[in-house]
Order: sequence, then C-alpha cells, then structure tokens
Amino acid sequence: MNHQLIRDLENTIQNIPDFPKPGIQFKDITPIFLNPTLYKEVIDNLVSFSRGKIDAVCGIESRGYLFGIAIAVALDIPFVLIRKKGKLPPPFVAQKYDLEYGSEEIEMRTGQIKAGQRVLIHDDLLATGGTTEAAAMLVQKQGATVSQFSFLISLKDLKGEERLDKFDAELHSILSY
Ligand code: AMP
Repeated sequence: MNHQLIRDLENTIQNIPDFPKPGIQFKDITPIFLNPTLYKEVIDNLVSFSRGKIDAVCGIESRGYLFGIAIAVALDIPFVLIRKKGKLPPPFVAQKYDLEYGSEEIEMRTGQIKAGQRVLIHDDLLATGGTTEAAAMLVQKQGATVSQFSFLISLKDLKGEERLDKFDAELHSILSY
C-alpha cells in the first residue's frame, strides 16, 4: 500500500456534503486532473494491480473512462465503454439495475468484449455496487470472465464490496471511507 499516494489523494479529493441530494457525501475527484504527477501515480497504482491479469478493461460512464483508458493503454489491451442507455448505436447488450428510486440501464456494444477474456471493471467510486454489478453481468453475458474490479474510492458503509463478492474477482480500491 502506498501511504504517500493515499495521503495525497485524501488531501486532493474534495468532500461535498449534501450534493446532489441531502445526506450524500459527494467525492469530487476533479482536482486530481489539475495535478499531472498525482494523476500518473494513480494510474501507476491501478496498472500495477492489473498487470498480467487481464485481457481487457471495461470503464463505466463517465468517470470510469478518466482512468480506465489510461490503464488499458499502459497495459496495451482493449478498452470497452459501458454507457448509459440510449447513447450507443446497435448492436448492443443491455442490463437493467435498480436504484434507490426507479431503475437505470447500461449498455455495451456487442462483440467488443470477447468470450473467454479476463476483464477488469473500473470506475472512480464504489458506493452500493449496483452499477458495477450490472457492468459485471454485461461482461458475463458476453461469455467473458470478470477477473478484477478497481476503484479510486470505496465507500465501505454502503457494502458495495459485499455485493460484488459473488463474482469471485479481485477487488482493489486506493482509498476507503
Ligand atoms: P453505486 O452504483 O451505488 O455503486 O454508485 C456508483 C456510481 O455512482 C459511480 O459511478 C460513482 O461515480 C457515483 N457515485 C455514487 N456515490 C457517489 C459519491 N458519494 N460521490 C461521488 N460519486 C458517487
């Protein structure tokens, strides 16, 4: 564990209380992009977790793209976008998931993930795990294996890690709150 990186991230990521709704502690990661040295250290950390263990990276719209593409490029493997409903042209596979109120749907172009591939699912933050769980189901629908999950931040109290246990994949988050 890189304690200096953890301290630097804790000092950089801003906690915004009651955004976008009362009771939510929103973690604003945008200041990381003002500091290219810190950004590279985050990428190095995420890349070393995944090196040699995966064949493709899936990033979840939209903050999952900010680090996911850099991980894939560093490892010289494909990056596949998971998008919110209605953004991708067909053919695509879709997965519905429940939110606190109502439901959401994510989509992925058919054939971009290949059967048998070992896949990393990456997002900036793990909260309840609903979004990541749906992404993992999309990967499995394509006949690929979910081998790893990575995040910058995991909000432990929301029990997302427990929700992802069933995929039997390695999980890494740089920060836990
Ligand atoms: P969940 O499906 O509950 O795990 O929510 C994860 C998604 O919602 C991620 O794509 C996060 O970017 C976003 N998210 C959830 N909670 C927060 C939070 N407290 N701060 C920032 N982003 C959040």
